Amino acid sequence: METDTRAVHAGRSDFRALTVHAPPIDLSTTYPISDLEEAIGDLDALAAGACAARNPIYARLHNPTVARFEEAIAELEHTEEAVAFASAMAALTAALLAACEQPRHVVAFRPLYGGTDHLLASNLLGIDVSWVREPDELPSALRPETGLVVLETPQNPTLGTIDIEAVVSAAGDVPVLVDNTFATPVLQNPALHGAAYVLHSATKFLGGHGDVLAGVVATSAERAARLRQVRILTGAVLHPVAAYLLHRSLPTLPARVRVAQATASILAERLSRHPRVTRVLYPEADGRQLRGPGSVLAFEVDGGREAASAVLRALELVTPAVSLGATDTLVQHPAGLTHRLVDDQAKAELGITDGLLRLSVGLEDVEDLWGDLVQALASVPVGAAA
Ligand SMILES: *Cc1c(COP(=O)(O)O)cnc(C)c1O
Repeated sequence: METDTRAVHAGRSDFRALTVHAPPIDLSTTYPISDLEEAIGDLDALAAGACAARNPIYARLHNPTVARFEEAIAELEHTEEAVAFASAMAALTAALLAACEQPRHVVAFRPLYGGTDHLLASNLLGIDVSWVREPDELPSALRPETGLVVLETPQNPTLGTIDIEAVVSAAGDVPVLVDNTFATPVLQNPALHGAAYVLHSATKFLGGHGDVLAGVVATSAERAARLRQVRILTGAVLHPVAAYLLHRSLPTLPARVRVAQATASILAERLSRHPRVTRVLYPEADGRQLRGPGSVLAFEVDGGREAASAVLRALELVTPAVSLGATDTLVQHPAGLTHRLVDDQAKAELGITDGLLRLSVGLEDVEDLWGDLVQALASVPVGAAA
């Protein structure tokens, strides 16, 4: 089945048997035990990382509403299973703990989402990190104890792309985790290119309406079992109401992605010709790995932070806010906000400059958005801070 069909039907295979049409929300935190021996069997299975049991026993071990959303994501990402978490940062933490044995070491491709960069750079989890930019730097960065290679493509916030197959081949036996938040399963399926883990901040496009915080990892059954064990122990579970909202958003995901992408392509092209814009960053889709450029772009305003800040103040329709992938268009200043904690030298090397603004294009009419951008750019004083 094609992605559009999967998006509508995935994770709903038991609906006819249940005689329901919408995903049932199971809010139980505990479940009645009618037979002790049977319950012990279920508990043992769940503790070993099973994706389901006759009795879920306790909500930190399993939830059927969350499991249906996970099944849908696995189908969309072409993996055996998926495991959902309270946020993408919780999901990433679980993947890092599951993949790395002590002494722990990962290799990470910069740039990355600011939180991911900070989690790795802070050494909070006792994981040593080696930073690289290109796949050919990977072999010399690998160590015998390297547990995971971490990358994001398209990258946040500079929208560069990385060849996943080149990384997987250079990584050898070391599993590769790809953050697929920007592309969504509609535009890219990292598992088909050899990625062992596919991470999503479901807070963004998968949820799509700016009202759910969630993360999910699509992976093999064996790796998923280990992730569930970490989730049971550390407790960063997804709430069933959040899972319901995410599952409800999946059928419209392909349509939302395509409409926003069409608008973003037009805005990227027009911005690149605007006299107050010095640079536009927008992914190049090769049609093989990345099937479309998506709806996130970045543009650099002439005049540095003062000019960027003037644009943010002047925009009326576009909302100045972090996050992305919502129905409405959002704009933010990576150097000051999402990537504030990335060290200054790395920011300079990566091109996260003071004039750079990241735009997540929503579902509004393209001319209305363009009109707002034009009036906001016109408000920048000529020669601001130049
Ligand atoms: C937002 C984001 C994250 C973190 O997501 P949370 O759900 O807020 O934890 C990770 N990676 C990327 C690319 C993001 O945009």
